[in-house]
Amino acid sequence: MIGLAKKHLDGLCRRDFLTGAALIDGCWIAGDERDVVVDPATGEVIADVARCRAVDMNRAIAAAEGCFPKWQQLLPAKRGEILSSWASLMLSHSEQLAVLVTCEQGKPLSEARNEIAYGAGFLEWFAAEGERAYGETIPSHKLGSLLQVRMHPVGVAAAITPWNFPVAMITRKAGAALAAGCPIIVKPAPETPLSALAVARLAEEAGIPRGVFQVLVGDPIELSTPLVRDTRIRALSFTGSTEVGRVLLEGAAATVKKVSLELGGHAPFLVFDDVNLEKAVAGAMAAKFATSGQDCLAANRIYVQRGIYGAFVNEFAAATARLTVGHGLDATTDIGPMTKLSVATKCRAQIEDAAAKGARVMSPKQVQALGQNFVPPTLLSDVTDEMLVAREETFGPVAAILPFDSEEEVLVRANGSEMGLAAYVYTDNLRRALRLSEKIEYGMVGINTSSFTGPPIPFGGWRQSGLGREGSRHGLAEYMELKYVCFGDLTA
Ligand code: NAD
Repeated sequence: MIGLAKKHLDGLCRRDFLTGAALIDGCWIAGDERDVVVDPATGEVIADVARCRAVDMNRAIAAAEGCFPKWQQLLPAKRGEILSSWASLMLSHSEQLAVLVTCEQGKPLSEARNEIAYGAGFLEWFAAEGERAYGETIPSHKLGSLLQVRMHPVGVAAAITPWNFPVAMITRKAGAALAAGCPIIVKPAPETPLSALAVARLAEEAGIPRGVFQVLVGDPIELSTPLVRDTRIRALSFTGSTEVGRVLLEGAAATVKKVSLELGGHAPFLVFDDVNLEKAVAGAMAAKFATSGQDCLAANRIYVQRGIYGAFVNEFAAATARLTVGHGLDATTDIGPMTKLSVATKCRAQIEDAAAKGARVMSPKQVQALGQNFVPPTLLSDVTDEMLVAREETFGPVAAILPFDSEEEVLVRANGSEMGLAAYVYTDNLRRALRLSEKIEYGMVGINTSSFTGPPIPFGGWRQSGLGREGSRHGLAEYMELKYVCFGDLTA
């Protein structure tokens, strides 16, 4: 596998996609210092990128502030045209972007291709939604007056993005901010800067004016601190762990900026014994193993009703055994490496803990030879609520299956988490489906489906899974302020 990523990048990608230069105020900055980017499957260095410093971030903030008046005054249709061109350029460079994602993030190439289409979809969607930032007219409570609510862009926005969806998490935030009329500064995860910088090249080519979209790579704390503290940043959007989200929220309190947070998940996946077993297993497999399990929507606790428990475990084990582990560039791969060693280490700790506490461990693939970032798709059955895997997010290809007896019981267990991002329910009983869709306390609920994301839906969680929403008209509102205007004394 050594050399595979570099060979693909050199053979396929535009030269300027690989320079590692940051985009600040319309200039491509190579930087005096550089950080390396590695292929998580092999540890091979595949590129190096600029290490931007706090002083560069201050320059970027000033540039963004300087271009805010012009960008907000552009007609929404014109901003939409530019966003649409950016989406088209992403699609016409889909293969190059997908290879970049696979080489630095590790996910299978087919999933990386899907991410590019998914990511471009947010730009297209917000291109149109920007034209629908309607205000309101309120029936007046005061004689002879007219009451209006108008929507205004909030100002300069900042995005701190994760490594699991290194392209789509940028466009989901930037599409909304730019459509609303806000310039945006992006700080991608240090593990996955190349795809972010390639997307920035295309943003420039699409006609986004200088300073309106900027991408700075470097140390997360050094670059995030000015974004969090500076009064000129009016909106901050973050996707990542709840721990870091809390730190950013606390820091942002000093300047009372708008904050939206997409944080961890710990999704319950409920399977009742009235379901079609085959469909439920396929749904659980997709919800567990997409993005090699490194997905905040991943099914973390698969609760199966006792009547079909044994059959479900057998089918799920057989399907897990069919998964192929390998380099994301290999067309047969279903499960790639973990992007960060810390994620693989956490998976192994959860498996060990579950085994010690009596879970059955089924791990059909031996992957030690592949390297330490690889975790074999592992099935833990007979999991109990006390085990680590049932109490904390896994973020890797480890499936935990827990038996349950009644609807009342499983609802309490499913809702008993500080996380509240996504939940899944599989049942053929319509009344039960409706009942649970009401009673389950999560921001997003899939009933008899494992696939429900996309640009039109409000993506976000309850409780410590986050604040605010991305995508949908609610996503646009994260970058806008309301202005209420009262016209008085209108009686002739
Ligand atoms: P993380 O929260 O540390 O990293 C996410 C982003 O935050 C990256 O851009 C990182 O550079 C930045 N960051 C890290 N520390 C920071 C700090 N102190 N100040 C400012 N920015 C900072 O996530 P991680 O450690 O890479 O992954 C750990 C866990 O986070 C995962 O196991 C998973 O639970 C969660 N996670 C969730 C998502 C999601 O989609 N919601 C994405 C990535 C990670």
